[in-house]
Amino acid sequence: MRLVERLGTTIAAIATAPGSVIGIVRVSGPAVRRLLEKLSGAPLPPPRRAVLRWIDLGEGSAPEQALVLFFAAPASYTGEDLAEIHLHGAGPSLSTLLERLCSFGAQAALPGEFSFRAVVNGKMSLAQAAALPVLIGAQNRFQAELARRAFLFDHFDRDMAPLLVRWDEAETLAVALVDFPDQIPEHFPLEKARALLADTEALVTRLLENSRRFERLSGARLLLVGRSNVGKSSLFNRLLGRDRAIVSPEPGTTRDYLTALLPLPGLGIEVEICDTAGLRATTSDAEAEGVSRTLSLTEVSTQILFLFDGSTSPTDEDRDALALVARRDPLVVANKSDLGRHQQAIELAPALFVSARTGEGIDALLTAIAARFSAEAPDPATPLLFHQTLIRTADAFLGESPSCRAALASGDAALIAAAVSRCRRLLRELAGKADDLSVYDRIFSSFCLGK
Ligand code: GDP
Repeated sequence: MRLVERLGTTIAAIATAPGSVIGIVRVSGPAVRRLLEKLSGAPLPPPRRAVLRWIDLGEGSAPEQALVLFFAAPASYTGEDLAEIHLHGAGPSLSTLLERLCSFGAQAALPGEFSFRAVVNGKMSLAQAAALPVLIGAQNRFQAELARRAFLFDHFDRDMAPLLVRWDEAETLAVALVDFPDQIPEHFPLEKARALLADTEALVTRLLENSRRFERLSGARLLLVGRSNVGKSSLFNRLLGRDRAIVSPEPGTTRDYLTALLPLPGLGIEVEICDTAGLRATTSDAEAEGVSRTLSLTEVSTQILFLFDGSTSPTDEDRDALALVARRDPLVVANKSDLGRHQQAIELAPALFVSARTGEGIDALLTAIAARFSAEAPDPATPLLFHQTLIRTADAFLGESPSCRAALASGDAALIAAAVSRCRRLLRELAGKADDLSVYDRIFSSFCLGK
């Protein structure tokens, strides 16, 4: 059943992961007060005060002492009456409690149902809700930071709200004029509508660009390339230092490549670093396969580090290898500085000289790598679309806007009204204000149970 059709019911879920020392069952909806009194045989606790209660787990089960928190509507996470019952984390006790709540009329909550209700009841915006799964499942400090910021500042609504007001006005005027098409030039401000469209396109484009930066950096990869024997594997190990134990061979047929996670100073993220086969023009089939795999990896990698031996004169193989990746603006690094810097090394314009053997220049290299990735990082002051569904809606808006522009240029009242309505609908959907709330089922279904 759709989340919207379950509004008004009382829902319950275990909100903690199995094996936690404390287990929390959450209940939300109109029956919460009655359920709490029934479970504990005691009066309802005062709102927002932790109270100890013996919870009756049903016939044949010993009661368990629990910490009960009651939140009276609308001052709760969902905006409804809500309770949290904290038990010891034992899975069987939690399941018994959940079953008992359901036998008293609660329904087992669907994933994301608490947050869905919070959005419907105006406790948080859709953009904030969409940041929650990222916050809960954050793989690194960087992801957690951006999700927390989305939650704290809600830049999204700040930027979106004034546009929505303008689209409402535009639609009202456009629709009113359908029956009086000759009055368009007088009563429908075409110039203002064009400006509104442009402002909205600019915001949506910024949102999408920032969201894509976030996605790219969340799965960031640094690829080490260069001809054989320049020291790629040595540099790989040197960069990883103590962490080299987590280096794992990637299953492959011809030439294996290695990947590991490299923490970057200052950025709070780890990037996947990948050591590849030597990159050179070749006639051998097996080697050609290795090279072509490396080249396809360059396409899906965020940054490329091109390594050569700076202690000798660059060879044609170095030049050819560099040419293969030049389009990706690689960070060019000269290795083996412990053996000296060859005067012709500068021909390949290295950004740094390092020695994988002695460690010389490695800190500077790490800083340079971090700078490359942070240049691609999302702008913290620009909102992010944390869910694919929102990204698709934003894309749909940009797909729609040219026909809106064409309608405005045509001066045809019916066309204008239809186009303005379509754009307004998509924007409202993006902002969590869709008329049909079931469009959000997909977003919330990716949430955890109990959230
Ligand atoms: P790859 O084929 O590019 O992965 O290169 P390797 O890491 O296997 O290194 C090739 C050879 O160069 C090995 O003998 C390494 O010990 C040596 N080597 C790598 N880095 C350095 C360095 O910074 N200085 C010196 N002197 N030798 C190095």
